[in-house]
Amino acid sequence: MHIVQVGMEYDVLKENNKIANSNYRLLKENGIKTIEFMGSIGSGKTTLIIKLAERMRKKGLEVCAIAGDVTGDDDQRRMRESGLEAVNCNTGHECHLDANLVRKSLKDIDLDRCDAILIENVGNLVCPADFPLGADYRVVVISTTEGDDMVRKHHDIFLHSDVAILNKVDIADAVGVDPSVIVEDYRRLTGGLKTMYMCSARAEEGIDEIMSVLRL
Ligand code: MG
Ligand code: ZN
Repeated sequence: MHIVQVGMEYDVLKENNKIANSNYRLLKENGIKTIEFMGSIGSGKTTLIIKLAERMRKKGLEVCAIAGDVTGDDDQRRMRESGLEAVNCNTGHECHLDANLVRKSLKDIDLDRCDAILIENVGNLVCPADFPLGADYRVVVISTTEGDDMVRKHHDIFLHSDVAILNKVDIADAVGVDPSVIVEDYRRLTGGLKTMYMCSARAEEGIDEIMSVLRL
């Protein structure tokens, strides 16, 4: 029984990777830069996306977002209210986006006109790691409000992402968290090779550095 389950899981992941590769090719053919944001509920993914998109639009880029959530359109509405065009992508039951859902969402975006797509994954630090979507960069966003143990508890997502961001550093003191502990855990996990970037999306601190890290 267990072996069968492992086999099925392997097929699902293999199929996802195939579709992710075809998404990537489609996006490249259209000259679109795509960034995926993963992270817990409340880590600040939506706010960060809105702040990045504002800066990208000022540079003259046509940006669109895909708002992934289990149900509801709260994030899509927030994005639209900020002036960011957004497609809603509800998973129904699943706690992560997969490449096939993204492929369907891409049909609702004018790829000819679009320069960049920002994808917000469902709030979850576990399974999104296993399901690449076809983006240029996978970004994981955590916040000081989640405690100082996020890197120690969730190795996979940090190892499967290209860029890690620690958000809400402006309220670290108030929640009794030392950001340097988190940054050091990440540095150690990545063999001393990678730096976690710090920001406060709401207070607009550190956003310009993230723009340049993501080559936006
Ligand atoms: Mg959100
Ligand atoms: Zn999941």
